[in-house]
Amino acid sequence: MTTQSSDFYQRLGVKPIINAASWITVHGGSIMPPPVVQAMEEASRWFVDMHDLNQKAGDVIARLTGAEAGLVTAGSAAGMVLEAAACIAGNDPSKVWQLPDTTGMKNEIVIHRAHRVNYDHNFRTAGAKLVEIGNTGATHEWELEAAINENTAAVAYVFGPRPGGALSLTRVVEIAHARDVPVIVDAAAMLPPPENLSKYIRQGADMVSFSGGKGVMGPQSTGILAGRADLIEAAYANSAPNSESIGRSAKVCKEEIAGLVTALEMFVDTDFDAVQADWRAKSAHVVDRLSDIPGLRVELLEAQPELEEPDSNHASAEIHFTPQWTGPSRDEVVRMLEEGEPGIRVRVRSYTDSILFIPVNVRNGEEEVVARRLREILT
Ligand SMILES: *Cc1c(COP(=O)(O)O)cnc(C)c1O
Repeated sequence: MTTQSSDFYQRLGVKPIINAASWITVHGGSIMPPPVVQAMEEASRWFVDMHDLNQKAGDVIARLTGAEAGLVTAGSAAGMVLEAAACIAGNDPSKVWQLPDTTGMKNEIVIHRAHRVNYDHNFRTAGAKLVEIGNTGATHEWELEAAINENTAAVAYVFGPRPGGALSLTRVVEIAHARDVPVIVDAAAMLPPPENLSKYIRQGADMVSFSGGKGVMGPQSTGILAGRADLIEAAYANSAPNSESIGRSAKVCKEEIAGLVTALEMFVDTDFDAVQADWRAKSAHVVDRLSDIPGLRVELLEAQPELEEPDSNHASAEIHFTPQWTGPSRDEVVRMLEEGEPGIRVRVRSYTDSILFIPVNVRNGEEEVVARRLREILT
C-alpha cells in the first residue's frame, strides 16, 4: 500500500486520504511523479527572467498541442479568466488596466446553457457578460447565430459533465468564425486521452484551456493555455507577471512552470493503453468484491471517450443502491468511508443513488483497501 504516513501532515494534524473520487481539487488534484518534483527543486535554485521562461515554456506547449502559441497558467480556471480577458481587452494597455470594467469594449461571451458550470465564474471575473443559448435538451444553430452581435467578444465551449444538447465544437467554430468571433474552450479535465491536447485546436478552437494538475499530473496549481499567437500574446498581457493585469492574482512561479513542462513532456510519452488497463483492473476488483451483496447492483463502467465528458474517459465502478437495499443509506456509507481509518473519498452524483469508485488517483493496493472497507460497511 502506498498511503504512507507523512511527517509534515502528521505534525499539522492533517490526515492523508485515499482518493477514489478523481482529480478533484478539494482532494489534492493528483500526485506529481518524482521527475516533476525534481524539476521543481532544480528550478528553485536559480533566478531567471520570467518573460524568457514563460516564452520558452509556451513554445513547448505550442509544439505539443499543435497550436501557434502557449502559456503556462495558474490552472484551467485562471486560463478561462485569461481567455476572456484576451478576447475582451486584447493587449491594449489601457483596456488591460481597465478590466473588469468593460465600458467601451465588446464584453459578451455566448455560452450553451448546457455548458454552464460553476467554473464559468472565471469568464465573468474578466468582466464578461454571459449570454446563454439553448437548453439542456437541445440547442439550435439559429440560437447561436442570433446571439452573436457587435458586442460579442467570444463564444465559449466547455467540456464539463453531461454536455447534453450542445452543438458540436466544429459547428460552433464554423458559425462563430463566419462572424469573425473567436471560440474559447475550457477542456480542464479532458486529459487523458493525450489526443485531446491537439484535438480542439485542430477543430478550429482559437484558445483551449486545460488543467495541469489533473490527468497531466503537474503541480495542482498549474494549467495549460494553447491557441492563436495574437490571442496568447493578449492573454499574457492580461496575466502575471504583468502587475497591471486582472491575471496578476493568478501568478505562476518558476518552479511550477518547470513542474508543468516536465509533467506535460512525460504525459505525452505515457503508454495510456497500459494506464487504462490498470484503471480498469482496479475498478473490476471493486466490482468483483461487492457484486454478491443483495440489494446492490454493482457495475463496471467501461471507458467511453466518445462521450467527450471528463468521467467517461476512463473505466470506473458504480455501486447502485436498489429499492431492495435495506442497509445504510448512500450518504451514510459515504460518511463512514470518510470517517474510517484511512479516510476514503468516493464520488457521488446528484441525480442517481449510487457511489462511484474512480480509479485514476487510486494507488497500487489502495483498491483492495477501498473494496475491503466497502464490504465491511455494506455487509
Ligand atoms: C477542474 C475544472 C476546472 C478548473 O480547473 P483548475 O485547473 O482546477 O483551475 C474548470 N473547468 C472544468 C470543467 C473542470 O473540470
